[in-house]
Amino acid sequence: MVGNQLEENIQTIGAKILDADRSSFWDGFRLDDKIMNWAMEKEELRVQLFQLIDCLPSLHSKKEIASHLQEYLTLPSLQSLINFSLQSPAATIAANTFESSVSTLARRYICGENLAEALKTIERLKKDGMSFTVDLLGEAVISQTEAEAYLQKYLNLMTELRSKLAGDIQVSVKLSAFYANFDPLDPQTTMQQVSVPIKTLLRRAQELNCGVHFDMEQYQYKDLTFHILKEICLEEEFRHRSDIGFTLQAYLQDSAKDLQGLITWAKERGTPITLRLIKGAYWDQETIKAYQQGWSAPVFDHKSNTDANFEQLMTTLLEHHTYLKAAIGSHNVRSLAKALVLQKMLDIPPDRFEVQALYGMGEKYMKTIAQMGYPVRIYCPYGELIPGMSYLIRRLLENTANSSFLRLSTKQKRPIAELLAPPVPETIVSSAKVITFDGFSNAPDTDYTQADLRQKQQAAIDRVKQLFNQTYLPIIDGQPMETEQYIDSLNPSRFSEVVGKIGMASIPQTDRAIAVAQKSFSDWKHTPVSDRANILRRAADLMAAQRYELSAWIMWEVGKPIREADAEVSEAIDFCRYYAKEMERLAQPHTRHVPGEENYYGYQPRGITVVISPWNFPLAIAVGMSSAALVAGNTVIFKPAAQSSVIGAKIAQIFQQAGLPQGVFTYLPGRGAEIGSYLVQHPQIHLYAFTGSQSVGCDIYAQAAILRPKQRHLKRVIAEMGGKNAIIVDASADLDQAVAGVVHSAFGYAGQKCSACSRAIVLDAVYDRFLARLIETTKTLIVGEAQLPSTQVGPVIDRSSQAKIQAYIAQGKNVTSGAPVPDYGYYVSPTIVADLDPQDPIAQEEIFGPVLGVMRASTFDRALEIANDTAYALTGGIYSRTPSHLELGKTHFEVGNLYINRGITGALVDRHPFGGFKLSGTGTKAGGKDYLLQFLEPRAISENLQRQGYAPIPSA
Ligand code: NAD
Repeated sequence: MVGNQLEENIQTIGAKILDADRSSFWDGFRLDDKIMNWAMEKEELRVQLFQLIDCLPSLHSKKEIASHLQEYLTLPSLQSLINFSLQSPAATIAANTFESSVSTLARRYICGENLAEALKTIERLKKDGMSFTVDLLGEAVISQTEAEAYLQKYLNLMTELRSKLAGDIQVSVKLSAFYANFDPLDPQTTMQQVSVPIKTLLRRAQELNCGVHFDMEQYQYKDLTFHILKEICLEEEFRHRSDIGFTLQAYLQDSAKDLQGLITWAKERGTPITLRLIKGAYWDQETIKAYQQGWSAPVFDHKSNTDANFEQLMTTLLEHHTYLKAAIGSHNVRSLAKALVLQKMLDIPPDRFEVQALYGMGEKYMKTIAQMGYPVRIYCPYGELIPGMSYLIRRLLENTANSSFLRLSTKQKRPIAELLAPPVPETIVSSAKVITFDGFSNAPDTDYTQADLRQKQQAAIDRVKQLFNQTYLPIIDGQPMETEQYIDSLNPSRFSEVVGKIGMASIPQTDRAIAVAQKSFSDWKHTPVSDRANILRRAADLMAAQRYELSAWIMWEVGKPIREADAEVSEAIDFCRYYAKEMERLAQPHTRHVPGEENYYGYQPRGITVVISPWNFPLAIAVGMSSAALVAGNTVIFKPAAQSSVIGAKIAQIFQQAGLPQGVFTYLPGRGAEIGSYLVQHPQIHLYAFTGSQSVGCDIYAQAAILRPKQRHLKRVIAEMGGKNAIIVDASADLDQAVAGVVHSAFGYAGQKCSACSRAIVLDAVYDRFLARLIETTKTLIVGEAQLPSTQVGPVIDRSSQAKIQAYIAQGKNVTSGAPVPDYGYYVSPTIVADLDPQDPIAQEEIFGPVLGVMRASTFDRALEIANDTAYALTGGIYSRTPSHLELGKTHFEVGNLYINRGITGALVDRHPFGGFKLSGTGTKAGGKDYLLQFLEPRAISENLQRQGYAPIPSA
């Protein structure tokens, strides 16, 4: 068939389908119709409404629903509708009406709340000549118990379906729901773990003669999902099964390549499987994620590209129907019409072709297609409406989007010719989605879904291991200095391994370092700011070029798992680039000239800065404090923490390679209590940039306040110290998110981030449910060596830290620990102490390990009170969908960094300037606008230009 004829046939058949239904979904008089019509007319209302619907399942009484109606629907035009007192009958009526409208709305897309209801729908579909595939809605799977329950539910579902229905039955499943730690970073373990339930499912399906279709989820799972499914389907036991299906998403730029891969694979396999071709349901999520990470988006930016790609893929797929049975899933009549025309044209047998649609979407079109004699299958999600809410929101977003075909065809009644016109793709620009503020953008982390990047990382981990056991000496005036004492820096994951030997600087060497720093200061302070800034930029580039090696050193020396080590390298790069830019901003002339008088305001460096850094961010914090001091024109004596001195030496190397003059930066490893303390008392030091524990920080603060003999200045101390960070889990929280966020914040890097969550304060209404899921998720965490891709929780830093943490755990009541831990490293199993008294030492003292106290609160106000009742104020979090509670939290939660509905770790330079107050620190934030000011002395100069009554008039 030539192009013109093909197109003509598409138009004819398309018009016939469209003719079936041009009435809007929401043309009726019911309230849910009206709500949706409003939502499509006003974007602001759409957002408010969908957020309210999302939160509805967590509201426990009519009064709560009524108060949330008032809190969410803030548009003036709605005020008359919601202007009721919460005690009045009107509130109950409003709550009931809204609840039942949402439930009616949900029933349009969810085919039943239980199997009995779903079966009724299926019977109806069958009467209309359509078959089905069933999807069981549920909460996100975040623990192994939940994964096992998911499998069991599907086994039961298949058995039930078969007992009730003869002929074709099929279920649709999500691969990631069978294994709670499904992770593209670790394909091997994921494959091993997920294969077991999948095979159980496939075996039972065969006994019952039930088809199994695998859905496709977010992009990060795509490659691994295909890999696992292909491998299983090639095994002798499953190789001859043709009742299995995969899914391909046409909105992905990779999809053409994936289709070719699938065709080659299917040819090799011999027996066809089904390939469901869809456009994809996570476009917004994928795009937002790309923006947040600074990655290129895996999806096409424009709907027309997806539509065009869909047609292209469909053509290829249908041409290869001998190897892959085609299931064309769309609600776009143009796409469907083309599928039908191609099916006839290529003479595809009916068992190699079907059309698919989601339940409740374009149903009349589907009926028409079925009546034309084409096989049609409806994707039928069923389950309780509460866990089904995220599914409902995805459908509502899709249907009310401006580009939605159903909206254009039914609601807007666009002309047929426009609806059926071939898609015209836009030019593809597939660059990274980088957002820049004032010339700065965050360095992107590594996208470990990419196999080549995983290989690079692994190669660096292996390479760095070959470099163990070398000796690192203090570097003074650019020269390594022999020392009398050495310590071993051990690998906390396996303490029999020595990562490096560190020469400990002596007091005389410290004196020499001070003399060199003093001498170098006079030149360095006059070095132009742009030169100093460019050295930092070169250091950033050097770190970016060695990012895999640097993160490997972090894994080996301080036991930080892969993703977190990688993020630390990004942070170090960011500090250099950000402070370079900030210093150039501060160096801009600041003038206030008036006739006869010129006024200048500017900054000068302070002098020698001692940087004392902790081991837990051995690269980022040390680089951050040092680069700030350096770019401001100070010289730096850098004393790393003993446990991370090898990485300290790498920093020295990087600064040297970046062109920092000798003597400006001294690498001075040594004992904190010895040379640290000596430096703190030394009269020639001007500034201490310290990050570490509260006790050491306070000591430095006190010591630095003493005026020593011959000291002619007051010292400044920047002290960033500990935290006892809390997350409040409100009654309206999304528990899927809250459990995952608390677990990640509490146990990421074994709880050794200063920002880590060590207290969860949970509202009564959700306490038991939250705790049960929290415990199960914690038990699922894999504890192991930091550099292994399977590891989610690594070791703690050293033996004394391990002993201290264990002593706290031993004091606790209601203690539940996670998986057993190996004994060849400093491991502590992630531990939850439930029903904790807010005044218990476990709830008050910084433990700095994987220990989380869980506390109960009767009201949100009480939760805030408990949260604030510690000596610290570093980070805090709230999971809530109640706007008034979020407002309360924003005003009253006493923390330097408050995070809402997200984890509380992982601050980014510039986007989340970081640091606390109270006993957490001096409060000027690292990676923020005010940070450099602490390293500078401000000066003002005023010059009288008047001579005998004459003065030039300033130009502006
Ligand atoms: P630490 O206080 O034991 O050590 C920090 C640094 O101080 C090390 O370099 C150490 O050698 C040095 N030191 C020790 N005794 C000293 C002395 N008497 N005089 C001078 N220097 C001395 O802390 P740590 O165990 O390395 O780090 C963990 C602590 O750091 C936790 O309390 C954590 O909350 C805090 N921390 C805070 C932030 C923040 O931004 N607020 C960031 C990271 C870590």
